[in-house]
Amino acid sequence: MRIILLGAPGAGKGTVAKLLTELDGSVQISTGDILRAAVKEGTSLGKEAKQHMDRGDLVPDALIMKMMEVRLQNDAGKKGFILDGFPRTIPQAEALRDLLKNLKIRLDFVVNLEVPKEVILDRLTTRRTCSNPDCQEIYNIKSNPPTADGKCKKCGSIVIQREDETEDAIINRLETYDKKTALLIGFYEEEGLLKNFLSINSKETVEAIKKSLL
Ligand code: ADP
Ligand code: ZN
Repeated sequence: MRIILLGAPGAGKGTVAKLLTELDGSVQISTGDILRAAVKEGTSLGKEAKQHMDRGDLVPDALIMKMMEVRLQNDAGKKGFILDGFPRTIPQAEALRDLLKNLKIRLDFVVNLEVPKEVILDRLTTRRTCSNPDCQEIYNIKSNPPTADGKCKKCGSIVIQREDETEDAIINRLETYDKKTALLIGFYEEEGLLKNFLSINSKETVEAIKKSLL
C-alpha cells in the first residue's frame, strides 16, 4: 500500500502505521522517529532539529524535504510505504506531490484519523517512551504501563516522558497542528485523495482501512 497518515499529535498515527505494516510488509516512514534518531546520533540534522522539537515547533520544511527525498527515493519505489507524520505543512505536501510525480509513484489514498480532543489530550499527557533509541517502545501510564520500576518490557531500559511531552510543549504541538497541519485535510480533499476514519480504537481503524484498500 502507499498511503499518508494524517492526524493530530496523539491521534495514534504511529500505532496504526505499525499495524498496517503487518498487513503487507509496507514500510513505515516516520519523520518523528527519523528525527529522534538523528538527535540521538548527534548529526548536524539532529542538532538543528532538536531546538525546534523540544519546544513542540515544527522542524523547517527545507530540512524535512532534504531528509525525505533521500528516504523516498530509496524506499518508495521498491515497497509500499506508510507516511507517518509527513507531510505536515502545505509546502511539504506540494513538494511531496512533485517528488512522487517524478518517481512515478501513485498514492492509494490519504487516511485522516479523526479523534476527539479530550481523548487526544488524555493520551498525550499519559504517554511515556522507552529511552533506548533503538527501541522507543511507547507506553501509557494508565492503559499500558511499563514495569513497576519504570522499565521497558521489551528491552529493560528506563521509560521516560519525552521532552516534547511536557504540558507546555503538548499545548504548543496541538496549536501548531491546528494552524498548519489541519490545512492538509483541505489540500488532499481537493486532490480527491482524502478518506476520514473516526479513530478511537487503532485495531478497528486498521480493519476499516484494510477494507478501503480492497
Ligand atoms: P507527534 O505526531 O506526536 O507530534 P512525531 O513523533 O510525529 O510526534 O513528531 C515529533 C516532532 O518532530 C514534531 O513535534 C516536530 O517537531 C518534528 N517533526 C516530525 N515530523 C515533522 C515534519 N514532517 N515536519 C516538521 N517537523 C516534524
Ligand atoms: Zn525499550
